[in-house]
Amino acid sequence: MTELKPCPFCGAKALIDIIPAHRHSEWLRKQIPDLPDCEGEAFVECTGCTAMVAGDTPEKAIAEWNRRTQ
Ligand SMILES: [Zn+2]
Repeated sequence: MTELKPCPFCGAKALIDIIPAHRHSEWLRKQIPDLPDCEGEAFVECTGCTAMVAGDTPEKAIAEWNRRTQ
């Protein structure tokens, strides 16, 4: 996996949080009948401030995070 660059705002270490594809709970699907199944997401979060980027896949989230550090 591509290395995560430090946070562009505070320079702290970033972490990746991967949410695998899943169905939403029975309760939530009753509230929102049109809600599609979650296809999985990934978040890169700073450990020092509230900076965060999201992507459909870990690779996309990391690419987006690293792009912002340029
Ligand atoms: Zn930060």
